[in-house]
Amino acid sequence: MEKMKAAVFEAVGKLSIKEVAVPRLWREDQILVKVEACSICGTDVHITADPPGYEAIPGTILGHEFVGKVVQKGDAVKELEVGDRIVVNPNDYCGICTYCRKNLPNLCEHIEPLGIEFDGAFAEYCLVSQNVAHKISEKVSCEVAACAEPLACAINGINKVAMKPGESVVIIGCGPIGLMLGMLAKASGISNLFLLEAAHYRIEFAKKLDLGQVIDVTKQNAQEEIEKVTGIGADYVFDVTGSQIINAVKLVRKGGEVVLFGVNKKSVSPVAQCEITTKEITVHGTWLANATFPMAVKVLEEAVIPMDKLVTDVIGLDELHDGIEKLRRGEAVKVIVRL
Ligand SMILES: [Zn+2]
Ligand SMILES: [Zn+2]
Repeated sequence: MEKMKAAVFEAVGKLSIKEVAVPRLWREDQILVKVEACSICGTDVHITADPPGYEAIPGTILGHEFVGKVVQKGDAVKELEVGDRIVVNPNDYCGICTYCRKNLPNLCEHIEPLGIEFDGAFAEYCLVSQNVAHKISEKVSCEVAACAEPLACAINGINKVAMKPGESVVIIGCGPIGLMLGMLAKASGISNLFLLEAAHYRIEFAKKLDLGQVIDVTKQNAQEEIEKVTGIGADYVFDVTGSQIINAVKLVRKGGEVVLFGVNKKSVSPVAQCEITTKEITVHGTWLANATFPMAVKVLEEAVIPMDKLVTDVIGLDELHDGIEKLRRGEAVKVIVRL
């Protein structure tokens, strides 16, 4: 049996790089992908923490943000050929549950998260179903193409509101997703972007991107800074931290919209419901990617946003631990593993 190198989540706090068997097609709708690059996600950092901040199944190969080439395909695969370059929606859906039939595959009742509960792409090869593979041009670098999945999630978040030119946006949290949302908002024609962050490295990194006004929430009063410019608060506030709904509701203008992106299962916030009512605020939740992969692919192929600027580190699979620890220390933005 053919072997490959892979990063296997073995137990709490234990991720091993080891030899495993190359996966074999076992359904006609599957494709075998030779992985080119796989990006480390914040979720991988949470999975490998002790105690873990996100649950994965022991024995699973991690890695869910990736690009690769089709090297083998099942007989039922019609839209893809061997040699095609693809990015993958790592949340495979059944297509037949009530949510899938309501065109909400991101909320599928039988979702199969690759790289968390099913083998992912911190490996030389990865098995996926044709449902979740999207072709991408060779002209996109593998480092940038590996960011298609978080971008598709960010686009799902942006799609919750209808931004218009000249409007203002606040992003709370300047990690990769926050910065992607900021770039997408800028590309949508908004006039004022405020990026809120508390961590020193991320503040300095966001300033260098020159997307908008970076506010250090440990030193500055965000509400004052935002109202100085907008007079009434922001049209849209995105919370990417999973814990800032109170501030989001405070910073948005009357009639504005709040989008809640981040997930922090430990965070419970007492929100004054009357503030939402009397300010006529709309609050949206957004989860994973829903039919937004085609848009993410186009955004990358046409370089609508400068995604390459978010890639701070490119490493080999053997350096995966170092990459994860660097992210845990908050000293990197997008770390890409080249296979
Ligand atoms: Zn991710
Ligand atoms: Zn389903």
